[in-house]
Amino acid sequence: EKPRLLDDGEGGVLFFSSSYSSSSGFGFSSIEKQRQRLPVYKYRSAILYLVETHATTIIVGETGSGKTTQIPQYLKEAGWADGGRVIACTQPRRLAVQAVASRVAEEMGVKLGAEVGYTIRFEDLTNPDVTRVKFLTDGVLLREMMDDPLLTKYSVIMVDEAHERSISTDMLLGLLKKIQRRRPDLRLIISSATIEAKTMSTFFQTSKKRRGLEGEALEPKVEPAILSVEEPPGDILVFLTGQDDIDTAVQLLTEHDRNDRKKSELIVLPLYSGLSRAEQELIFSPTPRGKRKVVISTNIAETSLTLEGIVYVVDSGFSKQRFYNPISDIENLIITPISKASARQRTGRAGRIRPGKCYRLYTEEYFINEMPAEGIPEMQRSNLVTCVIQLKALGIDNILGFDWPSPPSPEVMIRALEVLYSLGVLDDDAKLTSPVGFQVAEIPLEPMISKMILASGDLGCSEEIITIAAVLSIQSIWTSSRGAQKELDEARLQFAAAEGDHVTFLNVYKGFLQSNKSSQWCHKNFINYQAMKKVMEVREQLRRIAQRLGIVLKSCERDTTVIRKAVTAGFFANACQLEAYSHNGMYKSIRGSQEVYIHPSSVLFRVNPKWVIYHSLVSTDRQYMRNIITIDPGWLTEAAPHFYQYRQLTHMPH
Ligand code: ADP
Ligand code: MG
Repeated sequence: EKPRLLDDGEGGVLFFSSSYSSSSGFGFSSIEKQRQRLPVYKYRSAILYLVETHATTIIVGETGSGKTTQIPQYLKEAGWADGGRVIACTQPRRLAVQAVASRVAEEMGVKLGAEVGYTIRFEDLTNPDVTRVKFLTDGVLLREMMDDPLLTKYSVIMVDEAHERSISTDMLLGLLKKIQRRRPDLRLIISSATIEAKTMSTFFQTSKKRRGLEGEALEPKVEPAILSVEEPPGDILVFLTGQDDIDTAVQLLTEHDRNDRKKSELIVLPLYSGLSRAEQELIFSPTPRGKRKVVISTNIAETSLTLEGIVYVVDSGFSKQRFYNPISDIENLIITPISKASARQRTGRAGRIRPGKCYRLYTEEYFINEMPAEGIPEMQRSNLVTCVIQLKALGIDNILGFDWPSPPSPEVMIRALEVLYSLGVLDDDAKLTSPVGFQVAEIPLEPMISKMILASGDLGCSEEIITIAAVLSIQSIWTSSRGAQKELDEARLQFAAAEGDHVTFLNVYKGFLQSNKSSQWCHKNFINYQAMKKVMEVREQLRRIAQRLGIVLKSCERDTTVIRKAVTAGFFANACQLEAYSHNGMYKSIRGSQEVYIHPSSVLFRVNPKWVIYHSLVSTDRQYMRNIITIDPGWLTEAAPHFYQYRQLTHMPH
């Protein structure tokens, strides 16, 4: 079969259809045989030829066809990692990085962390002397540019999952295009599962001609929304939106196990980022005979991960997406209808190895008439504070003129510049301040947290603030309620601090240390042991970074005033005041007069102190503040005179 090559001399675009070679059943064949059966294998030499002869190669192939696991190996086999050079493959998602790297290490028969390694934030499983194939998040590669702006150690960089259009992917593409001008030897591969290749090839000017994809996917038949376990054997993949609804669904499906024979044949597993390695392995391990695996996932299983054995897919039609409003300056995770492109991808997960079915929990009419064709790139629906500071740190001064695959709106850029200015990170000329701006940029966390850590050095509470920052970087340190909400609430109350959630975290951390880091202690107290282990790791790394930046490591011995002042130094923009006559706990944000409420998971829920600062907002029926700390409003003008000088602070004691 001839690959369809579109080539105008400048770059190459390769589409391939994804028929599997006649397989005589999976399972017992050698890894080498399995590799040769993947659709991408037929294009091995075409791909290597394109990479050899073009600066940029764009590859489009269906999920599961072998792009991520095979292409880096082909490159290695063809000598692209000789002479100490490294082949990089980026992914937008941390979990995908880990899963794919361990699969490739297995296929190559090497130990993960040696020849094949991976790096995600706060976790580096590579050895610079021997690692030749390196998987990493696009965010980590961006960070590497701060030390090595031309990414000199890499011979080929494969930007994978480009159709996801994450902020970091888009930034990376813009920056790599610049690097290419200085490094003609560098090879780029941009790979994706959908036909967004158009945007990409225009961006990299690779091809002016285009033809449609062979064997365009057929529209799947829409079936009624009932999943009967009467279906013949085969695993089920269910797309829901986030950890909360996934945990609930897992619980519903596991309850009363013994009373229901059909249910007892189910192995129900959640899939979302932040799972431990052990939990991930369960998902990828083969389903035992007589059992049926049910994986309940976020859109991470849409294209970044391939699960063997899935025959049925249930698509809720929704995913959780970030949305940012530059007017109110509020960013929210909102449950949003997915796009047609996503719906097709989800459907495609069914029956890769034999005919399957997809149950879409929405009508055909909705799909045809109302579902948007494509999603909006994250760049155009997010707060860009982190993005702007990174570009500044890379010496890109003209942010508004930067060459983006999809430019964000100038309002959002200006908002980000404003926030960075008020944090003292940028000066009047919009240049990074020294040392604060450079230090904040150096810490791999969002600028507000980094600023909080810097301030804690001066306030003498860096040990505590680093613990808090580590906890905030983890999804949640609490386990799900395991059907016992009351017990969970009571367990949480033992640690509750009147000053709020941040100080409560310190109590949990202290308890964990006193228990000798016991998993039993965690279980008894509804605390997630894996999460606490991760907190310890992140904490150690942050301490190292702090030391490198000259931040004094010191404990304030539980003087919570300085702790709260340090939080204020970073998060002053999230200050809210309780409405004077509110009977239902309504707060208003000071900057946007936005109506917000305390999240039920907060230790301050129903306590309703007058002035609070929140860490983040979640939006369901209302806007809820998550992770809250009480403050004295006087600290606001102290921490950010520019930000609060013109704002009306009613009822302020000053
Ligand atoms: P793509 O990147 O094109 O979506 P991958 O390279 O990720 O495809 O996967 C190719 C094939 O490798 C899959 O179809 C699957 O058979 C196998 N595979 C990938 N990851 C794993 C894993 N963790 N465990 C077992 N098989 C895997
Ligand atoms: Mg892939």
